[in-house]
Amino acid sequence: MKFVFATHNDHKLKEVQQLLPKSIELLSLSDIGCVDEIPEIGETLEENARIKADFVSKTYGFDCFSDDTGLLVDALNGNPGVYSARYAGEQKNAEDNMAKLLSELEGVNDRKAHFKTVICLNVAGASHFFEGRVDGQITTRKFGKEGFGYDPIFMPDGHHKTFGELPGEIKNAMSHRGRAIQKLVEFLKNKLT
Ligand code: IMP
Repeated sequence: MKFVFATHNDHKLKEVQQLLPKSIELLSLSDIGCVDEIPEIGETLEENARIKADFVSKTYGFDCFSDDTGLLVDALNGNPGVYSARYAGEQKNAEDNMAKLLSELEGVNDRKAHFKTVICLNVAGASHFFEGRVDGQITTRKFGKEGFGYDPIFMPDGHHKTFGELPGEIKNAMSHRGRAIQKLVEFLKNKLT
């Protein structure tokens, strides 16, 4: 069974391939010759995940899944949310994004936030959605250099370290993306048996 994972990110592809049974072969966008930057013009994570999966299924005819993630901050009414990648501008720079978020939250006591990942799987003509979430707090400054994006300023509940300080295996086991992927993997395993 072959699926396209609609990503240009090899790191993500390997991470997901490791979680899947060997009978499922994952192809990346470059494997199928897709070099397009698929526009993320949706207003929700669900819409963006669906746009990416539909683009690949319709253009290339493959069963396919895609993911979209956002950081939702309670005190900012769920922002940056679907705009997390380009919060501080189109340059999509993690340092700029963190600086902007820390400045928006200066003097704010309620620092609750969560990461949410939505996966859209298009298989046999139907779409299925899987969601993963991790709750935590935005710190008042950066800690650690692990991971990417907002990791140095996100401290998951139950830990005294940020994702920027925790080892990758620990983050992946509890993360929003890890949880959404686990649900996808269970679905695919059941589908195969
Ligand atoms: P994407 O949908 O996976 O491309 O994620 C959109 C944006 O959310 C990224 O550009 C990052 O800014 C942020 N993000 C997604 N996943 C993570 C994560 O695991 N840690 C920190 N930031 C993340």
